[in-house]
Parts: sequence; structure tokens; C-alpha cells
Amino acid sequence: MDFEPIAGTEELRKEFEDFFKEVMKDAPPGWENSPDDLATDEGWAFHRRVARELGKRGWLSLAWPKKYGGLGKSIFEQLTFNEVRAYYRAPGVDGFGMAMVAPTLLAMGTEEQREEFLPPIARGEVTWAQLWSEPEAGSDLANVQTMAVRDGDYYILNGQKVWTTGAHNADWAFAVVRTSKELTRSRGLSFLLFDLKSPGVEIRPLPTMSSHSRKVEAYFNEVFLDDVRVLVKNRVGEENQGWAITRATMNFERSGLAGLGGIRHSLDELIDFCKETRWRGKPLSEDPLIRYRLAEIAVGITAGQATARHVLWGQHRVEMGEAPAMEMVPRASSMKYYQTELDQRFVYLGCQIMGLYGQLKRESKWAPMAGKFERLYQSAPGPNIYAGSTEIQKNLVAWIGLGLPRT
Ligand SMILES: Cc1cc2nc3c(=O)[nH]c(=O)nc-3n(C[C@H](O)[C@H](O)[C@H](O)COP(=O)(O)OP(=O)(O)OC[C@H]3O[C@@H](n4cnc5c(N)ncnc54)[C@H](O)[C@@H]3O)c2cc1C
Repeated sequence: MDFEPIAGTEELRKEFEDFFKEVMKDAPPGWENSPDDLATDEGWAFHRRVARELGKRGWLSLAWPKKYGGLGKSIFEQLTFNEVRAYYRAPGVDGFGMAMVAPTLLAMGTEEQREEFLPPIARGEVTWAQLWSEPEAGSDLANVQTMAVRDGDYYILNGQKVWTTGAHNADWAFAVVRTSKELTRSRGLSFLLFDLKSPGVEIRPLPTMSSHSRKVEAYFNEVFLDDVRVLVKNRVGEENQGWAITRATMNFERSGLAGLGGIRHSLDELIDFCKETRWRGKPLSEDPLIRYRLAEIAVGITAGQATARHVLWGQHRVEMGEAPAMEMVPRASSMKYYQTELDQRFVYLGCQIMGLYGQLKRESKWAPMAGKFERLYQSAPGPNIYAGSTEIQKNLVAWIGLGLPRT
């Protein structure tokens, strides 16, 4: 991979930094850009405001072709945007729309679908939800049971989805459903797009331990589908061949570029805390064990950033039709596994450095760093599970990346 063009994006990086520094002055207190931050009315309104601003600037679609509302910039300019936004933990990007639906339609959608769905994503006007998991289909996603039965120009959907992030705030869904009872498992699935305000859609909140800890509304949901009518023209790919689309979309989701910037920002804050906080007469920053462990995280971030560039490069080649989607699998899985594990190690380290005080919530006047690491700790397990658990990513690297037998 050629890293050279990154040097030419410094001016743009400064523009992004100036924008996000200014925008984040209006962030609600304690903002981490986590699902629980977005679960509050104030947090959601902040996200929507930033989304519209980014849309006006064309920054949600930097590397897309101009005819779909993109700016036609390079993948390196897109990468710079992702890194800077992640560092400032800024909202405004609907990850499902921008990182999953858009690349999927660019690579595999019809011209009509691209023209209909891409411009609203670019303008920051629409929010998407991922309706894939079901009570009996998580890691084993090919076991999806939600049925879509053809009725003229429509499919009629019946079934239940679970763990749907942000469905209560979303406008549209991309779903994996069963379109054949005869074809088993992944052979009988299709990939559909539909309006979440359609009659027959019921969304119920699903609280998690982090939402309880912060007394916020749940950000995850169960979605029940009862005779929901979906236009056949909103199917991506052929009927019963939705698994190939799902696999490609998964890999766009697993590229995981945003997370590393957030870890970097929190690491900088933890370093400042260690410089300012004295323990047994000395700053924490002079403790050899703490220094080593902070250094380990910094090395981990640097290695991750290089891998993230490699993944983005691969993703761009798939979007442009220059590489098969399969090529992305081991790279995206490695990145997803690596970044979420690094994040979890970092959050545990933060809590350990704080000692027993690290368990105090932000309401306590004794909570170090305003209870930041307590909050991060509560939400850290989720990323190791969603978008395919760590075990599933390792299985994929072993099978597709290393050529070991499939299990
Ligand atoms: C916070 C959060 C947000 C989510 N958001 C969404 C969303 O927006 N949309 C959506 O569709 N889904 C979402 N999910 C669902 C997520 O994709 C599933 O939870 C995930 O795929 C795991 O499936 P499961 O929960 O059924 O667990 P299971 O598949 O039952 O897995 C249980 C355990 O067994 C392990 N395991 C399973 N199979 C294997 C295997 N073959 N080899 C080794 N180990 C294995 C897993 O690693 C895990 O540790 C979300 C989940 C969480 C936690």
C-alpha cells in the first residue's frame, strides 16, 4: 500500500480539527459519543445537529462519486476525516448508513437504489438500523427465521429481530430475511431495505447494564415485524442470494476505523491525569509499571492505525470493483478483533490506575476524571460481541486468512 498521499491531507486535517474543536464545545457534559450518550434526548439532538452540519460540508460522503452527493475526494481524505472525528469523539455520523449501507449500495446496489438512498445519507438527513440478529440467529446468522413472502411488487415480512441498535431513532432498516423455506440456511436469504415507520413495525426497548448505570433510556431494541410490506425493488442483489451482500456489508462494518482515535484521545487524558496526580509523594507518571502499561497501549494504537489504513484501502478497492469482497474478510476481522480487545484492555487499565476510586460514578465528588473510566468500563463488553464476537473473528481469520479447515 502507498502511504505517500496521506502527507497531502495535512491542510484538510487542520480544517477538520478546527471544526470539531468548535463543535465539541457544545457537547453535553461527560460526552464520550457512546450509545448511552446518544440515548438521551439532549445527546440525540446534538448528534442530529452535527450530522446536518457535516452534511452541508459534504464530509459524510467525501470519497463517493459526485453524482451521488459525494465530493469525489480520495480515500486518504476520508481516512483523515474518520481519524479526526474519532479523536474528538464527535457525533454526526450514522455508522449504519455511512459505513454499511452506502458502501454496500456503491458496490452492489442498482443505479435506482444508489440515486434514492445515497444523497440523504450524504446530507446527514437519514438514520439507518441494522435488522440482522434474532433470538436464534446471532453468531449463527444464517439461521435467520424472519420470513419474507412475495406478494406482487411487495414482500410481506413476519418475524422478530433483536439487539437492534438505535432502531427507535432510525428512519430506515437494512434487514436479512428468509425468502425460501426450501433452500436451507444462507442459501435462502435476501437483503431488504425498508422504512421503519411502515405499518406492522413495533419497536421495544432493550436495556443493558450500561444504560442502567447511567439511568438513560435503552439504546438497543427488539423489533417485531407483523405483515410489514416491503417493495421488491428495495431488495439488494438477487432473491435468495442475500448472503453474499450480507457478508460484504459485515466487512464494511468490521473495518473499525473510528474506535482507535477515541482510544487515543482518552489515552491523552489519562496521561495528563497521571502527570497531575500524586501517589505516595510522587506523580503517578513516575511509576514504572504505569509508564510501561501506558506505553503498551500507545504502541497498540500505532499498530492499529497502520492496520486500519490497510483495511480502508482494501474497502475502497472493493467499492470500486477492483477487488473481490472476500479479500476484505481476514483484514476486517483482524481489525475488529484487534481494536475492540485493545479498547477493553485500555479501559481496564484506566480503572486499575484509578484504584477503588475508579468505580465511583460521575455524581460523586471523589470520582476521578468525572467517572469517565467507570462509564467506559460498563459499556466495554458490547463491542467484543456486536458485529461478530471476538471468537467469530478469530474463526474467520483462521479459516479464510490462514486456510485452516472450516469449523
Ligand atoms: C451492544 C450490542 C449491540 C448490538 N447491535 C446490533 C444491531 O444493531 N443489529 C443486529 O442485527 N445485531 C446487533 N447486536 C447483536 C450481535 O450481533 C450478536 O449479539 C452477536 O452476533 C452474538 O450473537 P448472540 O448474542 O446470539 O450470541 P451467541 O451467538 O449465542 O454467542 C454466545 C457466545 O458463544 C460464542 N460462539 C458462538 N458461536 C461460536 C463459534 N462458532 N465458535 C466459537 N465461539 C462461538 C460467541 O463468541 C459468544 O461468546 C448487538 C449486540 C450487542 C451486544
